[in-house]
Amino acid sequence: MNAPLNDAKADISQVKLLINGEWVESKTQEWRDIVNPATQQVLARVPFATSDEVNSAISAAQQAFARWKRTPIGARMRIMLKYQALIREHMKRIAQTLSAEQGKTLADAEGDIFRGLEVVEHACSVGSLQMGEFAENVAGEVDTYTLRQPIGVCAGITPFNFPAMIPLWMFPMAIVCGNTFVLKPSEQDPLSTMQLVELALEAGIPPGVLNVVHGGKGVVDALCTHPDIKVVSFVGSTAVGTHVYDLAGQHGKRVQAMMGAKNHAVVLPDANKEQTLNALVGAAFGAAGQRCMATSVAVLVGKTREWLPELKAKAEQLKVNAGSESGTDVGPLISKRARERVLGLIESGVAEGATLLLDGRDVQVPGYEQGNFVGPTLFSGVTTEMRIYTEEIFGPVLVTMEVDTLDEAIALVNRNPFGNGTGLFTQSGAAARKFQSEIDVGQVGINIPIPVPVPFFSFTGSRGSKLGDLGPYGKQVVQFYTQTKTVTARWFDDDSVNDGVNTTITLR
Ligand code: NAD
Repeated sequence: MNAPLNDAKADISQVKLLINGEWVESKTQEWRDIVNPATQQVLARVPFATSDEVNSAISAAQQAFARWKRTPIGARMRIMLKYQALIREHMKRIAQTLSAEQGKTLADAEGDIFRGLEVVEHACSVGSLQMGEFAENVAGEVDTYTLRQPIGVCAGITPFNFPAMIPLWMFPMAIVCGNTFVLKPSEQDPLSTMQLVELALEAGIPPGVLNVVHGGKGVVDALCTHPDIKVVSFVGSTAVGTHVYDLAGQHGKRVQAMMGAKNHAVVLPDANKEQTLNALVGAAFGAAGQRCMATSVAVLVGKTREWLPELKAKAEQLKVNAGSESGTDVGPLISKRARERVLGLIESGVAEGATLLLDGRDVQVPGYEQGNFVGPTLFSGVTTEMRIYTEEIFGPVLVTMEVDTLDEAIALVNRNPFGNGTGLFTQSGAAARKFQSEIDVGQVGINIPIPVPVPFFSFTGSRGSKLGDLGPYGKQVVQFYTQTKTVTARWFDDDSVNDGVNTTITLR
């Protein structure tokens, strides 16, 4: 077994693979430490699975598919009903593991799990979501109908920043649709993911239906090229997502890749000032800016540029500390490497001439001197050529830009290559309507800083933030995880008139 459910710290020194319902100790020579980002304590070691192990996981999923796809839809749904209850029951314990390995605060860790739990709840409605269509009498006594059938073995590749929510975007919906699954969690923080996988087995997911392999590029590439994998769902950076999309696509798979971002919040002078500034600060610095929907650019329209001192004052008040400490607003970054990268980007902003209004580089966190902390950092005077604008920073850094009109703001956002999320802050319905219509970004918030849709809608990034047509949850994901078959049928009574042989296309 993996870590016992009632004690997150026991027996997790070597993370196991899950193959055909068995917890397997990897035979690999390649291991990586999972490190608490606030303390540098090594929590466990994760294997980079061998190609034989990856092949075994795919083969187990392929064999289980034959049985699982015939399991009645109600039986599949009832497993999800049990699963959602188990996640709810174990949420606090998993949140502790998640906070320890990822760094986010305990409250935010619970939010991470909760947003995934909502997808599991939605999976319980698959009976109505997976229905086909029917048209009667499309020609003389002929009916046409569609079947939404499971497609086969699906693979999921997930990032470090939401180790609960994003795996839960993937395998519950794939499995409830009748598919089997091979999950490759982030190698940086797989422990909470594995606790969720254990609960899935406890809920009744049969051996081989859900498998887990760990690793990096080698394992991902093996999943993208194996002939038995039919579908690949990826969430992570744009560079890796583009590689996965291309490689898996070349090997004939259906692929969706949800990728990096540069999310602009546009602030109009008629916006509610306090609410807007609170929203900007929360969305820019929460989770240390490591959210794909974090606000990373504030576009200040007209006289809202005068709000900068108050924005700075609110950012300064945030408490930087370990996620396990009460009252923490901003936890550490995931790794020393991530911290070095963010510090380098801040340095580049200074060198390229932006004004550093608030500098989080030297933040001190007593008791956690080794932590990967960067404090809230605020730039003004940023231009579109600077690296702090062109690159996703993925840290607690907010860049601000100034324009004179809403039209200029819309043009600025639409010129940026990413299209994940954006927001408009205003009290004007007309401005909001114009913005939602003209903006070329997948997810739009009106006075909402992080407009992640609830699971009965779909996550809908666009342009450089997404490849593939269908989103990772909501109704779209049922299309993603099923194959549509169209049946055209005619039945004969004993007394049907004999049509005779017809060698032409029938005119209806
Ligand atoms: P990442 O791209 O480094 O890693 C994602 C997954 O790909 C991991 O499982 C990793 O093991 C694997 N991987 C890493 N390098 C690889 C390579 N060279 N070849 C093949 N596979 C490789 O992303 P991350 O740092 O874990 O996560 C942060 C990124 O994810 C940010 O860019 C963020 O915006 C993005 N993200 C996007 C969404 C979304 O819905 N659009 C959601 C969350 C995170």
